Amino acid sequence: MAISSNDGGMTPPSPVPQRRHLTTEIPGPRSRALMARKHDAVAGGVGTVMPVFATRASGGVIEDVDGNSLIDFGSGIAVTTVGSSAPRVVDAVREQVEAFTHTCFMVTPYEGYVEVAENLNRMTPGTHEKRSVLFNSGAEAVENAVKIARASTGRQAVVAFDHAYHGRTNLTMSLTAKSMPYKHGFGPFAPEVYRAPGSYPYRDDLDGPTAARRAIEMIEKQVGDPAAVVIEPIQGEGGFIAPAEGFLPALADWCRDRGVVFIADEVQTGFARTGAMFASEHEGVVPDLVVTAKGIADGLPLSAVTGRAEIMDAAHAGGLGGTYGGNPLACAAALATIETIEAGGLVERAQRIEQVLTSRLLRLQDEDKRIGDVRGRGAMIAVELVRGGTREPDADLARAVAAAAHSRGVVLLTCGTFGNVVRLLPPLSISDDLLQDGLDVFADALADIAGS
Ligand SMILES: *Cc1c(COP(=O)(O)O)cnc(C)c1O
Repeated sequence: MAISSNDGGMTPPSPVPQRRHLTTEIPGPRSRALMARKHDAVAGGVGTVMPVFATRASGGVIEDVDGNSLIDFGSGIAVTTVGSSAPRVVDAVREQVEAFTHTCFMVTPYEGYVEVAENLNRMTPGTHEKRSVLFNSGAEAVENAVKIARASTGRQAVVAFDHAYHGRTNLTMSLTAKSMPYKHGFGPFAPEVYRAPGSYPYRDDLDGPTAARRAIEMIEKQVGDPAAVVIEPIQGEGGFIAPAEGFLPALADWCRDRGVVFIADEVQTGFARTGAMFASEHEGVVPDLVVTAKGIADGLPLSAVTGRAEIMDAAHAGGLGGTYGGNPLACAAALATIETIEAGGLVERAQRIEQVLTSRLLRLQDEDKRIGDVRGRGAMIAVELVRGGTREPDADLARAVAAAAHSRGVVLLTCGTFGNVVRLLPPLSISDDLLQDGLDVFADALADIAGS
């Protein structure tokens, strides 16, 4: 098997062959049997994208229980950025698990936590003095960023945006825009959350400064001065929406003028995913607080809030923390992940993946009017599907294309407020050959589905 040399040297002679190969139909008999057990044992509220159960994953491939090898265009939702079971991560976690699994940082602290904080302070945008605090999930970190902003400003209101996704806990569900499936039936929601219009160039035809003015006018009229504005620099679940140029800087400037804490939710966009270490960098935006999770530790549960020392230190001692936050295994994995990203040139690798994906997708768009928009940055690229020649969302088509790709051995996710966006989120350890093969499958799947 050929391992391309363009993966930043991350893929060792891998036990998981780097190719797409189906030995059964999808799902195979073992996956079908497991799905029946899942149905009887796991709460019905937990859905799965793929109908197959995984056994191993590495590089750009996931193997299932029936021996099928699937191309991974999902990275477990932008988590295994350095590739699942990346060698440095495996070594670091093995060493840590043999030393100790848990003491609780709030009881008996350990160096790994401090080292992760130091790295986050160094890597996030801006050269000002920073502090970090570690948690388990993206939602938990977003909640804590809001707590910190409230403590530091003495204000309560928080502004989130149309198409936002910030998590599934009560406060983050309240910040999230989309009702079904995230909020439907789960109220009442947290108070003092306000929603502003964002920037969605494909659908609002506004330039960045105009869209920012529209948002700021709404905030000034309806909220006044909030504690914080929470925003994804590129919206993830909402449809990989990159705001028009100038939108984020204008919003950040307004926040600075009004003493509003600018919180960048980089949970999905962080850690080289978008062809910069953090997506805020693309427009030189320096957030007051940066929230990270997903790509931070190759799948071990870890999240963080990093930001200006004077804001971070506003929360009283004992006000922040949690039993597992900054677990030593997760910290070891994060340090190895960061080393892999930096030593492997993965920011550049994400830029290269952007070229491979977008050049092919833009060519497809020329031939197929159902591809309304191709957008995103780095290894976070989306295709918005519409009824040919209109901008009317076609969620059925997105569903059908994803299902066809699944049955041909490609893990492909959809997203978007209208459910009509196919998103490509490969691990940065994927080879160019696998990218092309996965794109072939996408193109064939689209071509096979009759135009609507
Ligand atoms: C996934 C995600 C979250 C929530 O993270 P969890 O770890 O699932 O709680 C928050 N914000 C963004 C932008 C995300 O993509």
